[in-house]
Amino acid sequence: MPLARDVVKDLAVEHGACVRPVQLRRTDLATGATEPVLVPCGHTLASVCPSCAERAKNLRAAQCREGWHLDHEPVIEPDDPTDDQKWWVEKRADAQAMRDADEACGDDMTGWDEDLAELDGEINTAGMRGNVLPARPERRYRTTRRRQDAPPLPRRNPDPRTVGKTYTTPDGKTFRPSLFITLTCPSYGRVTSNGTPVDPDRYDYTSAARDALHFAALFDRFIQNLRRYCGYDIQYFAAIEPQRRLAPHVHIAIRGTISRAELREVIAATYHQVWWPSTDTVRFDGAHLPIWDEDKATYLDPDTGEILPTWDEALDAIGPDANPLHVARFGDRFDAQGVLSGSKDASRCVGYLTKYLTKHVADCHRAENGDQVRHVDRLADALRFEPCSPTCSNWLRYGVQPKNAKEGMRPGNCKGKAHRREYLGYAGRRVLVSRKWSGKTLSDHRADRKNWLTQTLGIPPTDPTRYTWEPVTPSDQDHMPTAQRLLHVVADRIRWKQALDEARRRAQGQPPPKDLSATGEEAA
Ligand SMILES: [Zn+2]
Ligand SMILES: [Zn+2]
Repeated sequence: MPLARDVVKDLAVEHGACVRPVQLRRTDLATGATEPVLVPCGHTLASVCPSCAERAKNLRAAQCREGWHLDHEPVIEPDDPTDDQKWWVEKRADAQAMRDADEACGDDMTGWDEDLAELDGEINTAGMRGNVLPARPERRYRTTRRRQDAPPLPRRNPDPRTVGKTYTTPDGKTFRPSLFITLTCPSYGRVTSNGTPVDPDRYDYTSAARDALHFAALFDRFIQNLRRYCGYDIQYFAAIEPQRRLAPHVHIAIRGTISRAELREVIAATYHQVWWPSTDTVRFDGAHLPIWDEDKATYLDPDTGEILPTWDEALDAIGPDANPLHVARFGDRFDAQGVLSGSKDASRCVGYLTKYLTKHVADCHRAENGDQVRHVDRLADALRFEPCSPTCSNWLRYGVQPKNAKEGMRPGNCKGKAHRREYLGYAGRRVLVSRKWSGKTLSDHRADRKNWLTQTLGIPPTDPTRYTWEPVTPSDQDHMPTAQRLLHVVADRIRWKQALDEARRRAQGQPPPKDLSATGEEAA
């Protein structure tokens, strides 16, 4: 016999309702009346909430479609800030003033910097773009001399346009093709059709791990080169996901087009050098680890008591003749196809771009046999002691203090997502969208959809100043248990779907179905 509660959950999924709705209390300021409102959890992983993940994916697909074949320059005019947004910026201003005063007194800034970073996060969450302060410039300037093993790339004079060229056929038809590209990582050793190495002992897991860790930076470099080479402000919508062999690859929709030969040239000239301290020598391992000195807030060599080089000192020690820790490059094999607006190809490609967005990196290809499980294990092993960032605790293993070192750091225990099995070394954002893609943020696209809905249903817009909202906690009297919430959202969805269907029928000038208007028709 099925459990009634499971059936409700399945029903919620079937009707596209959130399976983990959040309960809020809405108070009408005019009347003082309160009512519970259930809002969707908004999770993007299908394993957590299939309905919200599907909606998020559809939103991304809409964003992708809207920007791809744009034939006019998107207008980006920032809206006026809301009161809420101003409030966060004022709070940020206060915090900065207090921090700077403390700094002048010589206090430790670690706590402050964390607070400020959190406030910056809130400012972005409140729907504002960018940071209040410009990013602090890197202290070091590495040689920008081109690598001898990468061919030089010709540059064109930059043009601020973002829209691709229009072509006209001899019979006067015009079209503006766009491009769909797939870039992969290089080979780390031959793999079988199920993505596992033919010879695991000779498969280069270290390079695979490092390429995954630095994949996002390599992608940035590629776009930079592509823009310089093509001479205009190329816009992209890209999705990063693992291939069957578990190396990341990226699908990119690009506005405008370039030839395969040109693309090959840009790919060959693109690389990303990682100027980090060397990890060739393991200095501390097992129980033999650096010691934290509480008074000096620093790590010491357990044998000599000497202070280990700090992150900045270790960077300064990288000599002019040193090699970068890693050079990331794309593989030679790539895929590129021209795509016309509104074509079948276009929707197929949007499908590719959004296919895996509702899944964790590691869930895109489930390990189904022993070889695949061992392949994941070996990659995870290679990632265990590979430093993921300047703040990674793994640096202690190589005798360097991580940036912002603090007590309790242990090599192999870094909390960075890149080390976790479900991320396979790539912990960055899965969707990368350039700023002038559709000229809209994801929230703008969300608002578009909401507006369309309320207009279709003929619901008058609510006055946002009329209500206040607050979360309902389990100890509150009006708190609804999960099962009750689910019943409510399912009922809401059903009512809502009927209203939408009817609105659509009305819009198409069709009479409502018989069972709804039976009495009326018989009378007529
Ligand atoms: Zn949900
Ligand atoms: Zn790490």
